[in-house]
Amino acid sequence: MSFEGKVILITGASSGIGAATAEYLAKQDASLVLIGRNDEKLQKVVDSCLKSTNNVLKIIADVCIEADANRIIQGTISKFSKLNVLINSAGIIQSGSIETTTIEQYDRIFDVNVRALFRITQLCIPHLIATKGNIVNLSSVCGIRSFPNVLAYNMSKSAVDQFTNCVALELAEKGVRCNSVCPGVIKTELHKRGGMDDEAYERFLEHCKKTHALGRAGNVDEVAAAIAFLASDAASFITAVQLPVDGGRHAMCPR
Ligand code: NDP
Repeated sequence: MSFEGKVILITGASSGIGAATAEYLAKQDASLVLIGRNDEKLQKVVDSCLKSTNNVLKIIADVCIEADANRIIQGTISKFSKLNVLINSAGIIQSGSIETTTIEQYDRIFDVNVRALFRITQLCIPHLIATKGNIVNLSSVCGIRSFPNVLAYNMSKSAVDQFTNCVALELAEKGVRCNSVCPGVIKTELHKRGGMDDEAYERFLEHCKKTHALGRAGNVDEVAAAIAFLASDAASFITAVQLPVDGGRHAMCPR
């Protein structure tokens, strides 16, 4: 799998799945545009990618801010003159049920996970049509299956799946593919940033031995490999797919 000559934009590249995907694609010779807000963390990912590829553009940006979204696309085109792949990995989680989720939490989750993804994608579309490129969105097993007490997050990921399929059908005739990966629990900063303390997170990972058929939580590299496959020419006849990367979790039913 080579991405030589391909320009790939990754949101959420400063941490977790986005960072691992950047490093994975750098090793396949991709030219990368890496987006995040945390400059120090994003720079570490840039430095790591630069060991494999010379072409890395770092853009510090908040995907929820319109001016930043415009700056991301303008920066990409002015540096590389084209865009082949968009990977929407920026995302947040917060727990809460219908009884406990505040409307502010709901708005924040939808702002990052849905609205910003919609807007960034929209701005990229003319450039992706020009290259007959493709999009990979980070959904979740939470988009496919229903888990109580992560209500707004589950809803946001279902929206990502519907977005993925509609965009895939709308752009198929223009040669643009659009797919999602749907990870199970993957060891990253996501859950701790969403409010879990260290002890609760360790218990959560232990519980994953039961909730994932393969008996464990996943690693970022396992998701990066699936994203790279969908983004590559090896997936040239695959569009409108939600690919579980979840150790079989989506197929499990308690009994
Ligand atoms: P991390 O918390 O490790 O990384 C999240 C990334 O999103 C960071 O790079 C962060 O950048 C970025 N981000 C968040 N908000 C914004 C914003 N407003 N503007 C710009 N960047 C932003 O999480 P993961 O890597 O685990 O999550 C990546 C994606 O995978 C998410 O969409 C998540 O929902 C999904 N996912 C994760 C699973 C898991 O178990 N980890 C399971 C299923 C899906 P910065 O810190 O620089 O602001």
